[in-house]
This record gives sequence, C-alpha cells and structure tokens, in this order.
Amino acid sequence: MRRRRRTKVVATLGPASSSRTVIGRLFAAGADVFRINMSHTTHERMRELVETIRAVEAECGRPIGILVDLQGPKLRLGSFKNDFAEIDSGQDFVLDHDPAPGDATRVNLPHPEIFAAIKPGDTLLIDDGKLRLTVTEADAQQRIVARVKIGGRISNRKGVSLPDTVVPVAALAPKDRADLEAALDAGIDWVALSFIQRPEDIAEAKKITRGRAAVMAKIEKPQAVTRLDDILDLADALMVARGDLGVEMPLEKVPGVQKEMTRACRRAGKPVVVATQMLESMMTSPVPTRAEVSDVATAIFDGADAVMLSAESAAGQYPVEAVATMNRIAEEVENEAIYPPSLHVLHTEPEATGADAIAAAARQVAETLDLAAIVCWTSSGATAMRVARERPKPPIVAISPMVASGRKLSLVWGVHCVVAEDARDQDDMVERACRIAVQDGFAKAGQRVIVVAGVPLGTPGATNMMRVAFVGGQTAGG
Ligand code: PGA
Ligand code: MN
Repeated sequence: MRRRRRTKVVATLGPASSSRTVIGRLFAAGADVFRINMSHTTHERMRELVETIRAVEAECGRPIGILVDLQGPKLRLGSFKNDFAEIDSGQDFVLDHDPAPGDATRVNLPHPEIFAAIKPGDTLLIDDGKLRLTVTEADAQQRIVARVKIGGRISNRKGVSLPDTVVPVAALAPKDRADLEAALDAGIDWVALSFIQRPEDIAEAKKITRGRAAVMAKIEKPQAVTRLDDILDLADALMVARGDLGVEMPLEKVPGVQKEMTRACRRAGKPVVVATQMLESMMTSPVPTRAEVSDVATAIFDGADAVMLSAESAAGQYPVEAVATMNRIAEEVENEAIYPPSLHVLHTEPEATGADAIAAAARQVAETLDLAAIVCWTSSGATAMRVARERPKPPIVAISPMVASGRKLSLVWGVHCVVAEDARDQDDMVERACRIAVQDGFAKAGQRVIVVAGVPLGTPGATNMMRVAFVGGQTAGG
C-alpha cells in the first residue's frame, strides 16, 4: 500500500471515529497519523484507541503514527444542566467557584488563578472567541460578573481565552504530566504540547519524554510566536494551531504566521503541521467550500509536511469523506505544474554535514536521471528527514529496522517508511532497497533508484554513501 502524494494527513479521533471499523476506513481513505486529544479522552479510552490503531497497523502492514495532544494550561468552563445554555447580548453572566451545573445566568469556572488575575474591563472569550464578554465585576474570592457583548450557545467545557489577562500557569499541569506518562506507557510516537509560551516549556517536556516520543510544539499563543526560533531549536516539530492562535491574536495575522512557521520548519528540516478548520464545513456537509479547498492547497503548495483534521474527523458527520477529500486535494495539487516551482520558492541550503551533503546530492542525481525513487536506510529516521528537507521530486522510501522510526516518519513530507531488518552488507542493502521499492509500487524492472545509507549500517549520523542501482529481476513478493 502506498500513497500517491507527499503531504501527510493527520486525523483527530473522537466520538465519530473510535471504532475499529471507522479507524480502518480513515486509514484506507488516507490518514497517516491519528491524533488523540487528551482534553476529551480518558486514559482508558486512549489506551483502547492506541490498541485499535496498532491492530489496524498490523493488518495493513504499514507504520502508523500516533500523536497524543496534551491539554496544556487551557482554561475551560464547567458544564451545564442540559449540556448547553443560550446567552444573549446585553445580559450579565456570572462565572463562579460552584461546581453545580450551569444555566443561562451562571457557570462554574474551575480555575482559581483566574479569579485573582482578572480585572474589570478585561475581555473574556468563550468557545474559540465565538462568544465575547467584558468583565464588569471581579471578586478574587467569589465570582466574576461579565456583560455579554456577543452571545450565543455556550456548552460544556468550552475553552476560555483571556487576551488581556496574564494568568500565571505552568506549561504542564498535573493532568498533563499524568496524561504524558500514560501515553508514553502506551507507546505513542508524538506528543503535542498545547499553549506553550517559552522554549523552557519544551525542555521541561523533553526531560520527561527522554526520547520515548518526539515532541511537537503547538504554536497557539502570541508569546510563542515571538520566541519561534528558540522553540523550534528544542522541539522536534511544530503545529500551526490556528484555532487558538486566531483567538489570541487578530485573525488576519494568522496566515502570515502560518507561512513563516512553514518556512522556519522547512529550513530546520523539522515537520510542520497546519491545523484547524481546514475542512470545517464538512462537519455537516459531504463537500467542502471552495475556500477550504484553497486553504488546504495553500499549505500543500508551501510544502507543509502535514495537514490536519480536527472536529471534522473527530465529531463530524463525514469523517471518512473529510480524510478522502484531503487525500484528493493533495494528490491533485501535487500533480499541478505549478507545484514544484511553488515548493522551491524556498531554497534550503544544505548544512555542512555528511547527511545534508548526501541528501542534496541524492536529490540532484535522482532528478537529473529521473530516477524512480530515493531509497534510504535510516535507523533513527534522521537521514530520511534530511532527504525530505530537500523536497525532492522522486518519492522517498525509508527503510528502518525500528518500528518506532517508521511511525515517527509517518508525519514527514514525502517519506514512505518500511520496517525491515538491517542489511547484511552493501550488496544486500542495494538488492533489498530495489526489492522493497518494487514491492511497494515505487519502481519497476528496468528503472533505476538511488540508495542512500550510512555504512556501516546502524551508526547514527554517518550518512556517507549513495549509489545508483538498476532495478532488475526483483519482483513483488520475490
Ligand atoms: P486544539 O489545538 O485543537 O487542541 O485546540 C489546535 C488549535 O488550537 O488550532
Ligand atoms: Mn488549541
């Protein structure tokens, strides 16, 4: 099984997509990585989902990435009597310490630190900024009274943003630490950190993960945007978390931040995921809007590693159709004549390392000779990521003996990873590279591929070999 596109698709799991059947269909439709959102998932459910994904993985024989997204210091409301309430513009609404279910006049706000920090005049945004309130009375002990400026439906555990208030919170709350340990125990591949503000937040998480999972920094606060380079130095990947970013800063600034982040990640050779509302209308419609298709296409033209579905696949009416739509858009866009020049508007100069020199040379040789694929032997996945950084025209086939590397690489632009034991010697390496390229549909007899490796195999950081090889008698299954 191979994808006919380079851009990867991340699909968030939720009530609409928790069964074995639906997860299997999402994978078949094009999901490369599944996201489990710990804001809405218990440990038990998370472990069940991991098990189900691993069962689908075993059945299809392809490594699948699992991204566990930690809630982070996200501020949320309590719940409501009938799961929701309608509040009108002009009315007063109270936030208090009382855990009893809320109604149209009040609700619990389970964050004592807000009561101490908020002041009259501060803006209080609910549900990604859909509802807007202004604080009129703030009493550190008791309650916050706010005048509703823009009303609407408000429901259980909706997010609260305070763009005018400095709320002193740690990057990893006790819940996040517990979720992270449970996720690492379950053997997940990527962990996403929400609402980080400083590079120290990444360092803190890395001290816990110690290489057991790769760390993705979600950029969703203006404070993080201003420290982007330092954060990227420490993180293994970034997510353009446009949902909360668009709440915390003016919406019209988000596209510029998206482009800047995409470039910064491509220069660094680290994956970048563009997220949120990409196909939002598919929550309730089997077809997307023109603007949504164009939005997904823009991320692809810019060379993002992955595009992500959130509620569309987690809670929408058309989860499989949403994944299939992204798959179709990516296939089509990547076949446009304008795609390669768009992709290479950004030139990423190789760094002075063996891996980068070989990756750049491999791309050049492969494109000059119109080779069928670049096959690289990679144990940690690092070599494959440096090749992917080149955004070469031929597909990248990565062979790794470590299933964890294959799963991690499922997020990376253009990389098709195959888990197989290390080669015995150089002949075996070339022979098996050709055979795998044929088996997985990347090359046919008579074509040539380029093989990239670090010899001896298994020495990290020793990429030092490339060889053009003829695909001969290797047959599918042979
Ligand atoms: P979320 O993060 O879906 O966990 O809120 C993504 C975003 O804010 O865009
Ligand atoms: Mn968010």
